[in-house]
Amino acid sequence: MRKALTAIAGMLASVALALGGCANGVGSSGVDEAAMAQADGANWLSVGRGWDEQRFSPLDKVNAGNVGQLGLAWSYDLDTARGQEATPLVYNGVMVVSTAWSKVLAFEAATGKLLWSYDPKVPRETLVKACCDAVNRGVAMWGGKIFVGTLDARLVALDAKTGKVVWETWTADKNSQFTITGAPRIAKGRVIIGNGGAEFIARGYVSAYDAETGKLAWRFYTVPGDPKQPFENKAMEAAAKTWTGEWWKFGGGGTVWDAITYDPATNLIFFGTGNGEPWNASVRSPQGGDNLYTSSVVAVNADTGEYAWHHQETPEDRWDFDSDAQIIVADLAINGQQSHVLLHAPKNGYFYVYDAKTGKLLSGKNYTFQNWTTGLDANGHPQIVPAARYDKGTGVWVSVPGAGGAHSWQPMSFSPKTGLVYIPVNEAGFPYAAAGKDYKVEPQGFDTYLDSAKTAMPADPAARAGALKGTTGRLLAWDPVAQKERWSVAYPGPWNGGTLATAGNLVFQGDATGHFNAYAADSGKKLWSTDVQTGVIAAPMSFAVNGEQYVAVLAGWGGVWDIAPGVLSAKSGLLRNISRVLVFKLGGTRKLPPAPPFDKGPLDPPPSTGTQAQISDGANHYGRFCSVCHGDAAIAGGVNPDLRHSGALNSPDGWQGIVHDGALKDLGMVAWSPVLSRDQIENVRQYVIKRANEDKKIGPN
Ligand code: CA
Repeated sequence: MRKALTAIAGMLASVALALGGCANGVGSSGVDEAAMAQADGANWLSVGRGWDEQRFSPLDKVNAGNVGQLGLAWSYDLDTARGQEATPLVYNGVMVVSTAWSKVLAFEAATGKLLWSYDPKVPRETLVKACCDAVNRGVAMWGGKIFVGTLDARLVALDAKTGKVVWETWTADKNSQFTITGAPRIAKGRVIIGNGGAEFIARGYVSAYDAETGKLAWRFYTVPGDPKQPFENKAMEAAAKTWTGEWWKFGGGGTVWDAITYDPATNLIFFGTGNGEPWNASVRSPQGGDNLYTSSVVAVNADTGEYAWHHQETPEDRWDFDSDAQIIVADLAINGQQSHVLLHAPKNGYFYVYDAKTGKLLSGKNYTFQNWTTGLDANGHPQIVPAARYDKGTGVWVSVPGAGGAHSWQPMSFSPKTGLVYIPVNEAGFPYAAAGKDYKVEPQGFDTYLDSAKTAMPADPAARAGALKGTTGRLLAWDPVAQKERWSVAYPGPWNGGTLATAGNLVFQGDATGHFNAYAADSGKKLWSTDVQTGVIAAPMSFAVNGEQYVAVLAGWGGVWDIAPGVLSAKSGLLRNISRVLVFKLGGTRKLPPAPPFDKGPLDPPPSTGTQAQISDGANHYGRFCSVCHGDAAIAGGVNPDLRHSGALNSPDGWQGIVHDGALKDLGMVAWSPVLSRDQIENVRQYVIKRANEDKKIGPN
């Protein structure tokens, strides 16, 4: 009798569970530990899919045999014409995705019907604090809530069913230089989030907030503060021994702007830290030092945020070699021994395999060409080439990789079936030269302490052609056990999309030429490609509804490679931003509407009348304050205005109205009057006029 009752109760419970799961979309119970452990692949519950951040879908209905039949199931045009970097999440047939300007949208995942949308109304002037476009890389889901970090550094919890705000908290002082572009992660019922800002005055940290209440549970700083104040913990005391001078006045950097991985097996949270601030190491730490814990992988206790271990991948970083690229947890046979490891391929060009529990470096090998070291020593310490310490001299050092990184935030994926990691690799150098003694740190400045006027691309077709030739990208299939390349696919330029690996022997990746592609995971053979009209930088994901498999990706060219590198932005030939959610399935028949033309307008500047002194001063100030958004040598990509084409060049007063007084602040162009004088602003105009006339002579670009 008791047995029968128990059985009936069990049946009722499973019926209730099934109804709850199907009828309510993002169910009332919401995402929990059990949902995260579910292995069928229909859901995608965290940006990296599972805790392990492998971005591997176990779905195989779409596979190497039939991927040629993939077609568009639905698309949705976004209202933010900026870089789209997010990976959508799907739970029980509902897709939730963030877009540029930290907006959040929820859809019926199979049909694209919009269920709700949320706009945090980030003030557009925030853009001046963001190094790399108004991007957002995704949301987190937990317990019936959706979490998003906003560009102006708020963390917001939304009701998953309605999109209404449940709680909201500032993760940094409202007036600070901190931003958020990364996706929150969940660990132990808490929301874990870091910040961007290490190109400005910022002391990096990672924070854990209670998912229910938004209350701060713990915070771990990544660099030490003023040693005259008590250290927060022993880890900070130890780190302070690796700094010299008055680094805290610059903040120190080390911001946690992307990689955060929770590993239930070790009860650790791993995160990557960014560059020291400023980039020029001689300024922040004049007598040298490794500057812990910048450009490192750090592990902390998931309950307390207490330091567990670290490995610094780029000591004394002066090249912006952030270690913020995503961290994958995997179980691999290393030297014949089953090991629980971390896989990491940061900007510095090296692929690292760590023991997850102890942080012991098991192996390290460069996955692409690099010239800043002669290799790693037995402890994994890079042997830095003396000339790469450009701040010790007055010359220009061209480093490969450069500040864009050999691999940046574009997520890699790992297939347990092939044992390979699929890395979107950039091959692009960057010229570094230290600024002179007259350089002053400015509150609104992108404070690298470099002399970008010295390294700006010359208006010389041969020099441009040479730089363009050496700037490429590829999809690399890397064997993390052998530390060896298995195959790679070349692209015309860098800054291609993140990757998705599936059990159907497939790797999906969008690219900077405006295509979305599928490759055989074991061989790299291209099996399918479709024209999506705009560069894809985000990573794809896969989900299933009623047994049908879908592949989704955000399209929308942008991010740092569009706005900062000048003529190199256009290496892949397509600068147009069309921001869309794209969802594909076998036999999908939808078509995209025709793409609107992309045109910067005529290049018709007034004649150059500035004196040599004016133009030279303008070049300095342009390089310092303008180039990070409007492009090296005043050549912009497709997202921000190309100043060479600006009508305001013809009007000294109109130019002052925009640059000095902030007439376009609601579009993200702040008033520079606190930083630049009217004369300096006029000199910038003269510099841009000179550049526009030079390029008019060279021809269309
Ligand atoms: Ca950085």
